[in-house]
Amino acid sequence: MMLKKPKVLVLAGTKDARKLVEALVATSKYELIASLAGVTRNPADLMAPTRTGGFGGAERLAEFLRTQNIAAVINATHPYAAQMSQNAVEATTRLSLPLIRFEREPWKQETDDNWQFAETIEAALKLVPPNKKVFFAASSKVAAPLKKRPDLTFIIRTLNIPTQTNALLNANYIEGLPNSDWQTEAKLFQELQIDWLISKNSGGSASYGKIKAARELGLPVAMIKRPKHNGGVKCSSIDEVLNALPMCVGTEQTTSVSS
Ligand code: NAP
Repeated sequence: MMLKKPKVLVLAGTKDARKLVEALVATSKYELIASLAGVTRNPADLMAPTRTGGFGGAERLAEFLRTQNIAAVINATHPYAAQMSQNAVEATTRLSLPLIRFEREPWKQETDDNWQFAETIEAALKLVPPNKKVFFAASSKVAAPLKKRPDLTFIIRTLNIPTQTNALLNANYIEGLPNSDWQTEAKLFQELQIDWLISKNSGGSASYGKIKAARELGLPVAMIKRPKHNGGVKCSSIDEVLNALPMCVGTEQTTSVSS
């Protein structure tokens, strides 16, 4: 007699996903595979066997799920990882597999926040008046739409500074992570003479410092709305995932099978 644990794929790539994997490992109830896109140099280790790189679209993801005998998928990618989320919905629907979408709550606008909303980066850029200095924490993937506003000066905070050939002419890059301390962010914005922010509504505390700093300094924020997801059981905390998963895999307890 041996105990067979349901095999669960965690689509990772965020700090929350790392914490979730840790919490799932601690339950000892699941066999986990984590997955990373492979965009971050030297990503922090996840506490589970990890594969890296795109699957090759929804069809290939479905093939992976089938051949790996995955019982459930947890999509714990960033709220703005729209393509991966769509692929996860398509692949799990095709195989009738349970899908959990783990996504933390978005930030809520407060009275003193000067937020203007946009559906896309392109629309957010249109909100910014001419010749302003704009702070944007983003990946170098965003370069194309920014090229359409040569009148603006961008300060881009990113983990992967682009090579000289890929860099925007009207951008200065700062390598690094967000600072959760709003006073540090406010000091940075003052030193850099920032006029506007463009921001995703990431939620959580790690990158909220810049939002509070903008509020305190009276800076406008072009807030890009989250892409809409239309599939999976929605969870906004690790506890919710831990509660939902046993139902999803159809086992309140580990399955017992004969060897
Ligand atoms: P995306 O546009 O939704 O994904 C682009 C492609 O990257 C996907 O189609 C998929 O390739 C591959 N991919 C994405 N996440 C993957 C994962 N966890 N495992 C395996 N393949 C993955 O996503 P993105 O916005 O480029 O983000 C890429 C990664 O960075 C995500 O894991 C996300 O959690 C993380 N991240 C994103 C942001 C953000 O603001 N977008 C912020 C912080 C962290 P195939 O189609 O070939 O399978």
